[in-house]
Amino acid sequence: MATYVIVGAGLAGGKAAQTLRDEGFDGDIVLIGAERERPYERPPLSKGYLHGKSEREKIFVHEPGWYDEHRVLLRTGVSATRLDLDAHHVELSDGTRQPYDKLLIATGARPRTLPGPARYLRTVGDSEALKAAFAGGGSVLVVGAGWIGLETAAAARAAGCQVTVIEPAPTPLHRPLGPELGEVFARVHRRNGVDLRLGTGVAEVTAEGVRLSTGERLAADVVVAGVGAAPNIELGREAGLEVADGILTDASLRTSHPDVYAAGDVAESHHPLYGRRLRVEHWANALNGGPAAARAMLGQEVVYDRVPYFFTDQFELGMEFSGDIEGYDEVVYRGSVDDLEFIAFWLRQGRVVAAMNVNVWDVVGELQQQIRSGAVVDVKELQAGAPVGFRSSGGGSS
Ligand code: FAD
Repeated sequence: MATYVIVGAGLAGGKAAQTLRDEGFDGDIVLIGAERERPYERPPLSKGYLHGKSEREKIFVHEPGWYDEHRVLLRTGVSATRLDLDAHHVELSDGTRQPYDKLLIATGARPRTLPGPARYLRTVGDSEALKAAFAGGGSVLVVGAGWIGLETAAAARAAGCQVTVIEPAPTPLHRPLGPELGEVFARVHRRNGVDLRLGTGVAEVTAEGVRLSTGERLAADVVVAGVGAAPNIELGREAGLEVADGILTDASLRTSHPDVYAAGDVAESHHPLYGRRLRVEHWANALNGGPAAARAMLGQEVVYDRVPYFFTDQFELGMEFSGDIEGYDEVVYRGSVDDLEFIAFWLRQGRVVAAMNVNVWDVVGELQQQIRSGAVVDVKELQAGAPVGFRSSGGGSS
């Protein structure tokens, strides 16, 4: 009987195991995870769970009994330390070897770090520690105005902390959204009392706070760094798989070795829609990429070409983002940016390459269809748009 092994028991790994069983795979499934917990979702860690509004049990991908019921051998608290492609096995941190017929690498990413004693937010333990630290209501300094930094700042404000965010770029979210929409996030944070310092780098984190690149020192009770994530590619790279930023795969999520696949944050996959490789660090990519890799492992014809999708909630701003802004030359709006109820469209040579619906719901399918079509749009029509979607705000994701 065949053995399929999944390294990385996060969302991509957990969903891949589920899909293997759903699709009728009858062999052995071994799911190996470095963390102590069974697979869980990370978005709540910087939102509801960090705010103390949602319960721990809600974050998990499956009920505790699901793994035994579906004959998935879940090995938590164990890391894969070495992969031998020729011998078809992985070596584990407990000294054992796990043979496989097919392997999925779903090892995710880890926070990039700064010199000095900063806190980070990746695991449920990190989220619990930050929640406890914010409960004191002291001063919080967040390094980095990316998604995690901004969501952490919003949670710290909600807990009553005094919050400063330091970011070297001229706007928050400069890389994923560009300056136009970054400015919208800056306004929301400032309006909610966040001291947002842009164009400023942090040279060092110290026991008292931070030293800025200008030499100025800022004191804080808690320093949290959200300065990006580094994919956990080492297992694949040291085994000889082709890697760049992530572990390289084709559009069926197969790596440079025919029996090894990669999905989720760690994979850098050829994207047929964009005609280039993308590494997507988003929840929906783990949710859908894990199952796509599982189907490919079962020999099904798979072309993984989902439009990248992301969502966030910060203060009064709830939004969903679809696409990739690379190379955009214009941003067009439908609705009211001032009232935070609008859709932004990023265009490249007259075609929509990305879109973001802010406090407007049930439009993601339509927006993604627009992106997927690659059609040249009439800007006036795009701005006027169909009234669809401008219903009462509801929140949520697709
Ligand atoms: P991971 O969730 O990182 O899981 C990989 C697992 O593999 C980890 O448990 C890791 O410990 C384990 N592992 C690593 N190496 C080994 C090894 N050698 N052996 C065994 N196990 C190993 N995305 C959104 O779209 N919207 C959001 O609002 C959003 N919010 C987020 C908030 C936070 C705080 C964080 C951290 C991320 C957020 N994301 C969000 C991103 C999203 O959570 C990730 O894209 C998603 O978790 C990726 O899933 P994954 O399964 O690929 O990797």
